[in-house]
Amino acid sequence: MALAAAGAALAAAEPPAPPAAAASASHGLDVAGMDRRVAPGDDFFRYANGAWVASAEIPADRSTWGPDEQLAELTDARNAELIRHAAASAPAGSEARKVGDYYTTFMDEAAIEKLGLAPLAPGLRQIDAIGDRTALARALGATLRADVDVLNNTQLHTANLFGLWVAQDLDDPSRYAPFLLQGGLGMPDRDYYLNPSQRMADIRAGYQAHIARMLSLAGEADAARRAGAVFALEHELAQVHVSRTQSEDVLKGNNHWAREELARRAPGLDWAAFLAAAGLAGQREFVVWQPSAIAGIAALSARVPLATWKDWLRFHLIESNAACLPRAFVEEHFAFHGRLLAGTPQLQPRWKRAVSATNEALGHAVGKLYVARYFPPAEKARAERMVQNLLAAFAARIDHLDWMAPQTRLKAKAKLATLKVGVGYPDHWIDYAGLEVLPGDAFGNAQRAELFEYQRNLAKLGHRVDRGEWVMNPQLINAVNLPAMNALNFPAAILQPPDFDPARAPVMDYGAAGATIGHEISHSFDDQGALFDASGRLRNWWTKEDFAHFQAAGAQLVAQFDAYRPFPDVSVNGRQTLSENIADVAGLAVAHDAWRLTLAGRSAPSAQGFNAEQLFFLSYAQSWRRKIREPALRQRLVTDGHAPAEYRAETVRNLDAWYDAFGVKPGQKLYLPPAGRVRVW
Ligand SMILES: [Zn+2]
Repeated sequence: MALAAAGAALAAAEPPAPPAAAASASHGLDVAGMDRRVAPGDDFFRYANGAWVASAEIPADRSTWGPDEQLAELTDARNAELIRHAAASAPAGSEARKVGDYYTTFMDEAAIEKLGLAPLAPGLRQIDAIGDRTALARALGATLRADVDVLNNTQLHTANLFGLWVAQDLDDPSRYAPFLLQGGLGMPDRDYYLNPSQRMADIRAGYQAHIARMLSLAGEADAARRAGAVFALEHELAQVHVSRTQSEDVLKGNNHWAREELARRAPGLDWAAFLAAAGLAGQREFVVWQPSAIAGIAALSARVPLATWKDWLRFHLIESNAACLPRAFVEEHFAFHGRLLAGTPQLQPRWKRAVSATNEALGHAVGKLYVARYFPPAEKARAERMVQNLLAAFAARIDHLDWMAPQTRLKAKAKLATLKVGVGYPDHWIDYAGLEVLPGDAFGNAQRAELFEYQRNLAKLGHRVDRGEWVMNPQLINAVNLPAMNALNFPAAILQPPDFDPARAPVMDYGAAGATIGHEISHSFDDQGALFDASGRLRNWWTKEDFAHFQAAGAQLVAQFDAYRPFPDVSVNGRQTLSENIADVAGLAVAHDAWRLTLAGRSAPSAQGFNAEQLFFLSYAQSWRRKIREPALRQRLVTDGHAPAEYRAETVRNLDAWYDAFGVKPGQKLYLPPAGRVRVW
């Protein structure tokens, strides 16, 4: 998941010097962070992390804390320094200077305060002028952005009426298609509007009050009543939305509609006006991902009073631009989205928000500066060698699968051979020549950057698919599989200590970064990956028997995760997290194999009092150490395809080698009989 640019304002303090010395002071396991009183077979997460969990505190400006967040802090501080240097020294008109100007302008709180409501005025005037449903459709179309992603980053939420994703056509992998998704909700998911629990009811009350305060800050009269109507509209939108689980079902989503079908099958919206304003007047075909929701939303656009739609547009204009507005907007935005929804007590300092905003607007340009300074060619080469070892281990696993039909195995090998693995940064960078960054215009810069990204995506339509394209920035602590592209992105920033560290025994890198790489590779071969062939075409390449075996293994894993209960009233959703859990099991197993292959029969040294097998599993479990605030965890249980980190660490119980490494015996809490250990690959 991407690091969100939360909104708002503390003192415009400069970032501290990057804590580079602190980060590199210790290499290897954090032995002091373990809890040796816990038996590994009872609770491996606590055995590996118990002392750390007991003592670590989530920083006040964060909702979660662990190695990834620590790396994000370090990387943000480094980027802030690079960006400030660019602002001071890059030649005018250069890309680096744009980066510097974007950041500096965002940082200038005094100037933003002085502008007050002025940046909102043109947008609000346009909304005032909406006089009929055609003008409404035009205004709604003008908000369409490239802000969702079904398969890669699985970003399914947009507060705009619809979201657009330009990606490989699942029926014809050589070309791009525009995917149209449901949207319009200011809260993260329909569940926030419909779930009857008291907690969700409280959030709804908080949200309605938040809408009123935002309208009021922008000078709108009678804000409480109008906020009630805006909320009621979103509640109706939520009722026609389909669930997250259904949205993740590729077979339900891949609906090709000719342009004329929009008006016929989703009547109510003036589609011609909407598409023209969205820059899609010439587009002949769309992939309508949630047909019933798109139809329901279009019907609401005709039925709900125009005045309510105009208030909805006003609220979302203010809400989505809060980060570049005066302090009162920033603080109100944080009070709801940060404090109430995620439980984060304190807004991030402005410099961190400025780095996030710059990453969002000019991600590759920042990434270029980052990799030049912090991702040496030797580390890129070392990571590429590790990827090759993982791929070889995966190929060997395919050869030895006893349950898979020979013809499916051949196809799996072909798919593995065409997998395009990107390490560190993309082969081609985004060219920002067309993006105008004006010093002193933080609001306009953000709007232009969103529009630039949207138009960059629209420009792909009609062209051949570029399989080398990246969907993550190199400076992001994350990794991703692009199922339809049959490609992987491993950003440079995740390939650094503690996950990937040249100063420690390689086995620990295999347990941490190696398991992540294995996880992403295996996505090409999981229940989702099985749907896409080597070219990325949506065509199930498994036999019925193969798929049945796979689903049986999946059912075991669903049951395993359904049994984890983070709260007495909520359990993990084993179905919603299945693909990710399969990828964790397969990734860990293949990383273990890959590491054994590198030994070529030699024995591996012990370190820090543990043998090499133990080091492998402990470094895996320590890579999943995490603390998370209760509201944030509750939010993720609803909206996240991944299980909470603690349970991802317990993936080890599916590997025979873990039982041997720690002498785990029947009767211990994590013990699974051999037949209960899930083996997918
Ligand atoms: Zn994954």
